[in-house]
Amino acid sequence: MARRLLGKEVTAALNEKIKENVAALKAKGISPTLGIVRVGEREDDLSYERGATKRCETLGVACEKYLLPADVTQEKLVEVIHQVNQDDKIHGVLIFRPLPKHLDEAAVIQALAPEKDVDGITDGSMVGVFAGTKQGFPPCTPQACMEILDHYGIDCTGKKAVVVGRSLVVGKPAAMMLLKKNATVTVCHTRTVDMPSVVKEADIVIVAAGRAGVVDDRYVSSGQTVIDVGINVNEEGKLCGDVAYDKVEPVVKAITPVPGGVGSVTTSVLVGHVVEAAMRKYSI
Ligand code: NAD
Repeated sequence: MARRLLGKEVTAALNEKIKENVAALKAKGISPTLGIVRVGEREDDLSYERGATKRCETLGVACEKYLLPADVTQEKLVEVIHQVNQDDKIHGVLIFRPLPKHLDEAAVIQALAPEKDVDGITDGSMVGVFAGTKQGFPPCTPQACMEILDHYGIDCTGKKAVVVGRSLVVGKPAAMMLLKKNATVTVCHTRTVDMPSVVKEADIVIVAAGRAGVVDDRYVSSGQTVIDVGINVNEEGKLCGDVAYDKVEPVVKAITPVPGGVGSVTTSVLVGHVVEAAMRKYSI
């Protein structure tokens, strides 16, 4: 039976560190604050917002919401972004995406100041991930994967790592982060030929394909650590990952469940970034 890599254990450890840093900031009269920019009322956004707001509350981080109607103009939205950029009380900003189709999402993202980009969406943050510098912040989900590996003492040095998926939000930054940890990294995608044999060779597998159960027992081998980033809803209305858990778990050495794996860690990583943004601002 595989070791279950539980998100809640990682989250608990991260939360302790975050609380210490919040206390250090508050002792200096600084209240770390997340600005949430939401356009419209998409159910996905509302659900993520509830989770993020609750985690902020638990950890002593304030939230300021900027709620705009679904038909907001580009000019108005960019004006709000400029306003939060300039507001010294806001340390990090979360902008829900995708934005409605009439808006130029790329232009909105680039209007955000990289030092407040706690969700890692600006070009500045990407440069930080690719160059290994502390510019902006890495995207929260791939960082959550790295936090899980670190917490459970899974050393990447010299190991073969495979990332399934090449999105800018998860796959590509995850590959760069594994590289920084000295893994030998391969990225698989929809055009990869004979993916099962590529994935089978890996010591560490991160799956972010956005397809329920795409990695099953044909893809895995004993001794592997599998991190499942996927969040899907199956025919029975239940949450499931991109890994066919029931088929893969009996084969591999360690695996994250869905739910209960990467998702909950992601929210604490986000709140941790807000706190770090405030600490960087005041050189604490
Ligand atoms: P995406 O759709 O932007 O990208 C998916 C990538 O996987 C693409 O590069 C595509 O080429 C590749 N892919 C798709 N099908 C494949 C297949 N059959 N074989 C190989 N490669 C394939 O998705 P994303 O934004 O990267 O998200 C991936 C998954 O992670 C989704 O299920 C999403 O819901 C989930 N997600 C979870 C969190 C979290 O906090 N846990 C956060 C973001 C995304």
